[in-house]
Amino acid sequence: MQPGWTLVNPAQQQALPVSSHFIMNIFQKLFGRKRKGASTNGNHSTASPDTIKTIEDNTEKLWKFIEETMVYYNSISCQCAFPRYRQIVSLDCVDYKKSFYSSETQGFIQHSRPYFNMIEGDNKQEDNSQFWTCKKCGSVYDYAYSGFSIYVNRGYLKIKEHKILDIGAEPLNPTPFFVGLFGHSYPDRALFKQVDFDTFSSYVRQTKNGY
Ligand SMILES: [Zn+2]
Repeated sequence: MQPGWTLVNPAQQQALPVSSHFIMNIFQKLFGRKRKGASTNGNHSTASPDTIKTIEDNTEKLWKFIEETMVYYNSISCQCAFPRYRQIVSLDCVDYKKSFYSSETQGFIQHSRPYFNMIEGDNKQEDNSQFWTCKKCGSVYDYAYSGFSIYVNRGYLKIKEHKILDIGAEPLNPTPFFVGLFGHSYPDRALFKQVDFDTFSSYVRQTKNGY
């Protein structure tokens, strides 16, 4: 299994602050077991304590950065003016007919909450459906959240009414991520690419005219 493509319980990332102790328990529970068919390249059926610590540290670093990025977006416009923000928050494993979630997606959604007004939505297929309206520009998104298993809960934000001119740079494919995807089954690896922290951080903040 490649770094960033890891089978874990994502529940710890539904609420902030991230509890290291809780994450540790979950990781040990999961990685302490042998899992058949979990790896496509034949190694890493379990994760070492060092790997777990790295994922924990990277997750905390990523989510802190995301919180600051939301402040940045709203200091010069709002998040809705950044297509790469919309790319990341709209990532939905159902679109790929797989069962996974992305730490980047869930981190951005969680830290987006202060910037939106929410009302009940109409998507009965989801455990939780809402309409989120940007407090600044009035753009409207579909928000949905469902738990597919005890290990995979995913939320997404998909724009329905876009009401501000983009100032952010266009999304790139494959979609870059720093911490990555967690779940039972994954999309085509060609669609996603793990990058280092600096690459990811400049990716999400870049404007059309540069940084
Ligand atoms: Zn907005």
